[in-house]
Amino acid sequence: MLTDTTRLWFGDLTSAELPRTIGLGEIGQLLDEMYRDSAQDLRERAAVLFLDRAGRLHVSKPLVGDMRRVIIRRPELIAGERYVGVMHTHPPLMGTGVAFGGQDFAMMLDSTDVIALLQTGSSLVALVRTEKTAVKADVDVLRSQMQQVERNAMSQGYTAKEALVLANLAICKMYGLALYVGYAPGPLEEVFRP
Ligand SMILES: [Zn+2]
Repeated sequence: MLTDTTRLWFGDLTSAELPRTIGLGEIGQLLDEMYRDSAQDLRERAAVLFLDRAGRLHVSKPLVGDMRRVIIRRPELIAGERYVGVMHTHPPLMGTGVAFGGQDFAMMLDSTDVIALLQTGSSLVALVRTEKTAVKADVDVLRSQMQQVERNAMSQGYTAKEALVLANLAICKMYGLALYVGYAPGPLEEVFRP
């Protein structure tokens, strides 16, 4: 159990009510530790955040993936508990950079998660669900939408990593997700809200 009591985790804030800044507290420390392990063995890490019946925040034991993905196994919840979101890492040197991939977006949109958090190096990025967020996504459609934005950006001279960041912003606009960025271990600052 963590001491954090941020109302954001309950997922009942409207887009207009979202904070400009999200402090991560102990979650930020845990994610930073997961990233350090990822930097050592170049494997992705992920952990699932959930609320217990008293509204207290918990974090699952970190899951370990490979260089490019980590399979999210969610802890089984009992009645009254609910998932808050997933935080994961992208190891350095993998070319994925500090941006969500198509699969990351699709998983977030197909869940009821309030937040998706990602750390690469010292950079943090977060997606936040609002009442304006699409309730599901087709991963193949979403991937091709991202690739189109990336191709356009690269044809205008942006690097592949910059293009991926621009594609993240474009997907947030298309699917009604709020986007935050920051430096480990937080806080994050608002970049876009739907
Ligand atoms: Zn990812």
